[in-house]
Amino acid sequence: MENLLEQIKGYKEEIAATQQNGAAALETFRIRFLGTKGIVKTLFAEMKNVPAEEKKAFGAILNEFKQFAEDKYEQWKAGLESTEVESGTAFDYTLPGDPAPMGSRHPISLVKNDIIAIFRRLGFSVAEGPEIEDDFHNFTALNLPEHHPARDMQDTFYLHQNPDWLLRTHTSNVQVREMEKGKLPIRVICPGRVYRNETISARAHCFFHQVEGLYIDEHVSFADLKQTLYFFVQELFGNNIRIRFRPSYFPFTEPSAEMDISCLLCHGKGCNVCKHTGWVEILGCGMVHPQVLENCGIDSNKYTGFAFGMGIERIAMLKYQINDLRLFSENDIRFLQQFTGSF
Ligand SMILES: [Zn+2]
Repeated sequence: MENLLEQIKGYKEEIAATQQNGAAALETFRIRFLGTKGIVKTLFAEMKNVPAEEKKAFGAILNEFKQFAEDKYEQWKAGLESTEVESGTAFDYTLPGDPAPMGSRHPISLVKNDIIAIFRRLGFSVAEGPEIEDDFHNFTALNLPEHHPARDMQDTFYLHQNPDWLLRTHTSNVQVREMEKGKLPIRVICPGRVYRNETISARAHCFFHQVEGLYIDEHVSFADLKQTLYFFVQELFGNNIRIRFRPSYFPFTEPSAEMDISCLLCHGKGCNVCKHTGWVEILGCGMVHPQVLENCGIDSNKYTGFAFGMGIERIAMLKYQINDLRLFSENDIRFLQQFTGSF
């Protein structure tokens, strides 16, 4: 008992003499005196060895010692916190939280999703295919004869010759692959990336994105094509859009047409965007050439179909009034951030 009282006296002197310097020293102090294996707990454990008649007096001394150690700890801790507030190192819980940065969908993805959603409502499903393609699926099946300029080395990125492997120049290869499956009727749209050996400028790039569509069934007519595309542009750009078809030529459709829409900026009066014509070209289309159907194993006497194709970049440029194609692939955060919150 005397021995214990001596110890307590020694510890009290130690506590009184402890310098209050720093959070690490405070934690060391807490563990030494107030921790689960600390001195206060150890001394309380000695209670069982104290004679019964002295327990009450010793208990009072122990409690007083415990209070002494705790007071020192609380005083030290409070001093430390006020220093942190003064020096600005304390955490201020009243500050607003850090905003989590919101990403944005790429404008190409936004427009692509818009286009897909519109055609889905007309019963079209989405089909995808390889970007590295063979000659048959990219050219031959589509009635592109050997001498056609699109097969020229200038336009196409060839990966291998004899046999020919190339980066697809359009997403029509997916249409060919769908037709080859032989499951009719076919009503698909094919969005994807395509590659052409073009000089990069504000209006052309060596890769871009297309959405092509294909509808094959019995009795499909050019009237179906016109009505489908008219519905599409009205859904995408609004009800007051007008359209016109100009005769054109593609090896894989007959007859073929380019479709223009009335200029979104000047509404037909004439401006720089529409080169003062009042019209902007947005896609090519036509009735699938019977030879293409036959190439893909479809009876051209029984089935007819229409096809169309458009560049997603072109639509996005019109919709968001973007004047340089290169912006889409430069990853400039100032450009991309403008689409934050768009879905
Ligand atoms: Zn215009």
